[in-house]
Amino acid sequence: MTSHDKRLRFQTGPRSVAIIGGGPAGLTAAYCLQKRGGNHPIVLEESSQVGGIARTEVYKGYRFDIGGHRFFTKVEPVEKLWKEVLPNDFLRRPRMSRIYYRGKYFSYPLKVFNALNNMGIYESARIMLSYLKWKVRPHTEEETFEQWVTNRFGGRLFWHFFKAYTEKVWGIPCKSIRADWAAQRIQNLSLRKAVWNAVSGSNNTSSLIDAFDYPRLGPGMMWEAFRDKIEAKGGEVRMNSRAARIIRTDDRVLALEVARDEKDGGPYKLEADEFISSMPISELVLGMDPPAPPEVQEAAGKLRYRDFLIVTLILEGSDLFPDNWIYVHSPEVNVGRIQNFRSWSEEMVPDPNRSSIGMEYFCQACDEMWNTDDQTLIKRAALELEHLGLAKASAVVDGTVIRQPKAYPVYDGDYQDALAVIRDWLGTINNLQVVGRNGMHRYNNQDHSMLTAMLAVENIYGANKDLWSVNVERSYHEEFEVAADKKDAIQIAELEDVHAAQMIASEDIEQIAQGAGLAPSTGSEQAARTIAA
Ligand SMILES: Cc1cc2nc3c(=O)[nH]c(=O)nc-3n(C[C@H](O)[C@H](O)[C@H](O)COP(=O)(O)OP(=O)(O)OC[C@H]3O[C@@H](n4cnc5c(N)ncnc54)[C@H](O)[C@@H]3O)c2cc1C
Repeated sequence: MTSHDKRLRFQTGPRSVAIIGGGPAGLTAAYCLQKRGGNHPIVLEESSQVGGIARTEVYKGYRFDIGGHRFFTKVEPVEKLWKEVLPNDFLRRPRMSRIYYRGKYFSYPLKVFNALNNMGIYESARIMLSYLKWKVRPHTEEETFEQWVTNRFGGRLFWHFFKAYTEKVWGIPCKSIRADWAAQRIQNLSLRKAVWNAVSGSNNTSSLIDAFDYPRLGPGMMWEAFRDKIEAKGGEVRMNSRAARIIRTDDRVLALEVARDEKDGGPYKLEADEFISSMPISELVLGMDPPAPPEVQEAAGKLRYRDFLIVTLILEGSDLFPDNWIYVHSPEVNVGRIQNFRSWSEEMVPDPNRSSIGMEYFCQACDEMWNTDDQTLIKRAALELEHLGLAKASAVVDGTVIRQPKAYPVYDGDYQDALAVIRDWLGTINNLQVVGRNGMHRYNNQDHSMLTAMLAVENIYGANKDLWSVNVERSYHEEFEVAADKKDAIQIAELEDVHAAQMIASEDIEQIAQGAGLAPSTGSEQAARTIAA
């Protein structure tokens, strides 16, 4: 569809826009449509809560994120929107996080004396010798993630800091992870450079974030405020409403079949002029009626996801540890990362004499952990906490379990080709745009979801923005950039006349570094990106 066609459509009358998903992308789309005036957006949200993965769950007054959500962006219009919707409720939080490995805490980012002290002189020497050995006689082939990392960091460092955490996050051996994913994203990081940075205290990077913004009641507060504003202006956010079928012709969506409980009136059809979808793109394709062409369905079937489970624990004692979160590299426990919600905001914890933490586990929705009952998971998590020396299991007084399916779109060997097939076909459907994380199978942060939604709205008003080229850089979020080396990769995405997004091809560079304890980052979120099965 050309921008000319879109303009014509816009001029034909009032727009009705149906939006699938009440997460950051869907709500941003609805809000921005209303800002353009005269619209009555309808957001369909299948769950009973807004915010998607950036929601805040509440249990007996204790508030929990689905993984701590920092609010940090270089995309000015996104920042503006956050402050516009939540002008008085942001806290500026100092950031503290460490790596737990072999019974010791490693500063994060790496401090060389702390690391040497923890590893001991003997092991540190072995790491250096191993590094030199692999420099002199590298793997001749670099087909796997393991070979790729070993050639650059040495076998010992791979073994200490990449293998266990990576396999914990993805549940598959590093030998099965393809090298090209790592190669694409960490071209310029070397042990030499990382050690020099640690020794000199300098960094060949452009920013180290030691503080971030956070809504005082958690990220869900932002998305609840969005919902309230949308509804106050006459828009609708329909909860417990799942877009189950996408009824279409060859080049247009006509309506959505919305699945709803019988008690709420049962299923119905929702017609609209325009459709914006943030539901998982694979489900969108497979929900088409008439069905998408066989090769497109096949491509949708190839997209994979990693699921995520948080065992939240409430404990006696207010001061468990000072970190916002701790990465747990030790292979003898299953937990991957531990959030300490009081360090995010005092208001997340209603009882001053208690603390609440989130024990984060990576899993598959069909596996043993996912299907284990909550009480067993709580007991196991309490024992792991004790094993790590953070608290006695007996200090745990209560807990609950939050399961997040499709937390991570997987970047594996198949996904790019599969996505290209889907993308080409979706391009033939004129009044449908896909936005956001699973909506575009994009390993993103909130700002990318929001920016794609903003641009989708601009398209409805006649612009011709390619949402697939929006590539909001993640590195700044994870504090480690190699901007100097990456200037060729930088592109600027525009939002109207605003230079909105910084795009860096190697946006995940920090993630491998994080795996090695060499650079700062956010653990599970980026570890998940570190690895492509
Ligand atoms: C562990 C973890 C930590 C993270 N940390 C950060 C962070 O620190 N900072 C940050 O900015 N970002 C962070 N993110 C990323 C952030 O959560 C996402 O970028 C953001 O939530 C994506 O928003 P979205 O609207 O695109 O998708 P989602 O949040 O996935 O929202 C999609 C919504 O669509 C609904 N839906 C799905 N299918 C249907 C259907 N058929 N019909 C109706 N509704 C449907 C879902 O229920 C959901 O509410 C983190 C993510 C994870 C997993």
